[in-house]
Amino acid sequence: MMIPYEYRYKGRGKRQCRICGARRAVIRSHNLYICRRCFREVAPKINFKKYG
Ligand SMILES: [Zn+2]
Repeated sequence: MMIPYEYRYKGRGKRQCRICGARRAVIRSHNLYICRRCFREVAPKINFKKYG
């Protein structure tokens, strides 16, 4: 249901997109930890269609 690689990616500490690795505009308010660009792609998959 969620994104495959959850917490195993990059461990913890650094906040960056776990999809593309970007560290700008990373959304972490919903434990997403993905950037805005990737967010728009995965948004429909995680029932998050209201953004942007
Ligand atoms: Zn990204």
